[in-house]
Amino acid sequence: MSWRDPSSDPGLAPYACSQKTSRGRIHPESSPVHRNEFQRDRDRIIHSAAFRRLEYKTQVFVNHEGDLFRTRLTHSLEVSQIARSISRELGLHEDLTETIALSHDLGHAPFGHAGQDALNRCMKSFGGFEHNLQSLRVVDDLEEKYADFAGLNLTYESREGILKHCSLKDAKKLGPLGERFINKKQPALEAQVCDISDVIAYNNHDIDDGIRYGLITIEQLTETQLFRTQFDVVKERYPKLDERRQVHEIIRRMINCMVVDLIETSKTQLQKHELQHPDDARNQNGYLISFSDDMQKQNQQLKTFLRQNLYRHYRVQRMTNKAEKVLTALFDAFINDISILPPEAARHCNELKEKDADTGIARGVADYIAGMTDRYAIVEYERIFNPRQLSFANLIP
Ligand code: MG
Repeated sequence: MSWRDPSSDPGLAPYACSQKTSRGRIHPESSPVHRNEFQRDRDRIIHSAAFRRLEYKTQVFVNHEGDLFRTRLTHSLEVSQIARSISRELGLHEDLTETIALSHDLGHAPFGHAGQDALNRCMKSFGGFEHNLQSLRVVDDLEEKYADFAGLNLTYESREGILKHCSLKDAKKLGPLGERFINKKQPALEAQVCDISDVIAYNNHDIDDGIRYGLITIEQLTETQLFRTQFDVVKERYPKLDERRQVHEIIRRMINCMVVDLIETSKTQLQKHELQHPDDARNQNGYLISFSDDMQKQNQQLKTFLRQNLYRHYRVQRMTNKAEKVLTALFDAFINDISILPPEAARHCNELKEKDADTGIARGVADYIAGMTDRYAIVEYERIFNPRQLSFANLIP
């Protein structure tokens, strides 16, 4: 007998997701021992191949450019840290929150948003490519680990959180999971917390990475109110601080400020609505987890700043263009001749072709490319297109 019954979900608010109200798994399984259902989901994510690959995938900067930059793995861990703090404070299910946070980026193609855009263009006549849908595809189909089912067979609540956005066209193909997009309803509160924690994490760490990489400066950032407020506090309290510590002091205060604002605003909302069940939050017309209006404005100002000064910086743009070329070339090469694919990827393409003759091969190629890390995509490009690699030695994989 364990010291605490893991199925009892202690300390949860009535509006939190729980094992009792869970909509369960597609393939029924016996209950886990010494863990709750959402801990089991989290553990399956951590042991997945897609999760390990996050270490070598980027958001903004290409992975091999520096050891100190964030990767999708460290980003997911930061989102998880922020989301769990918020979740616990609001009486939500922390294990479910952690699962969603750790898996929210599993479906991203290599090279961040450049990769997503390139793959989406390549897939235009084959149903498109969208990283949220791809994350769901990873946990529902692509992970091959269990004898009894494809994918990880996660609970409905984890899958609901992973599917952050979805077009109406795609939603219609997804059954119960797609209904909220058709009916314009919300995901459970744990998913809402992860969604906003993602924003808090990337806005702040992109500032940190952007300054470290010399793309943006502290002086430029003081144009934004959110940064400026904390800059003034730190400057006054520690006038002689060196730049690295100064940046960290500002960023940690910004994160704290955003988290506190989010918790307090959301608490008021939750109390006002007197929710008795997780579905009461799902049935609202908008998120109940949100910033105050003032913080929302400041956050928007920061996002706009980063878009104009960091994501569109000419040095980032050069990498973006190069990344798009690499992925487009790989896609074209594979779709024209799947005999150059490794056998398991070719088999996957053929299996999908049997289900859908028009789009199967393209979807299989997109799955293969989306699963690549940044460095694997670069190596694969070299193997296929670099004539210097036309030697016998390169036949050895
Ligand atoms: Mg993210």
